[in-house]
Amino acid sequence: MRDGHSAREGELEAAERRIRDIPRCGAVKIAGMEESFRELLLAVGEDPEREGLVRTPHRAARAFEFLTNGYRQSLDQVVNGAIFDSEASEIVLVKDIELYSMCEHHLLPFIGRAHVAYIPNGKVIGLSKVARIVDVFARRLQIQENLTMQIADALMKTLQPGGVAVVIEAKHLCMMMRGVEKQNSVMKTSCLLGSFKEDARTRSEFLSLLNS
Ligand SMILES: [Zn+2]
Repeated sequence: MRDGHSAREGELEAAERRIRDIPRCGAVKIAGMEESFRELLLAVGEDPEREGLVRTPHRAARAFEFLTNGYRQSLDQVVNGAIFDSEASEIVLVKDIELYSMCEHHLLPFIGRAHVAYIPNGKVIGLSKVARIVDVFARRLQIQENLTMQIADALMKTLQPGGVAVVIEAKHLCMMMRGVEKQNSVMKTSCLLGSFKEDARTRSEFLSLLNS
């Protein structure tokens, strides 16, 4: 029990540290965003001086700084040498990576899961790094199709594997909140590269791993 508890605190602390350590965008840009959010509040008919809203432009600017921190990170920084030699040649699948991104058309979130697979070709990457790579591209303004491709391309570049497969399933708040589509519809996108694209057997092995 105690161990489980402290392990969870460890995760929380790690999450807080990651939030603290994100690359900042600087005082001038934060001030610019604050001014924009103030104008937005005025434009929708609100009073930015009322008690509940006084600090809102500042908080919203900080939130946007966090939600777009992928622009200020490079793939090399994130991978940070966590690539290891390996003889493995079977599919490596990292399933159910939590994904939070922002739709570039409406500035509203889309939320879901990413599944990332690759076939090692002499090198493997630390599992947590796969999730970090997903985040680097998710924490930008995105459309789901491009996000899926960018993650796949990044792994191709980093590992030169035999193939990469990325599947993303996500719910888009811009559709759900505005009642544009069925409220619970999930959008699925995939990007298959290398042997996942060329070899039907590899592809079907991937699909059965994904569905198991
Ligand atoms: Zn949208």
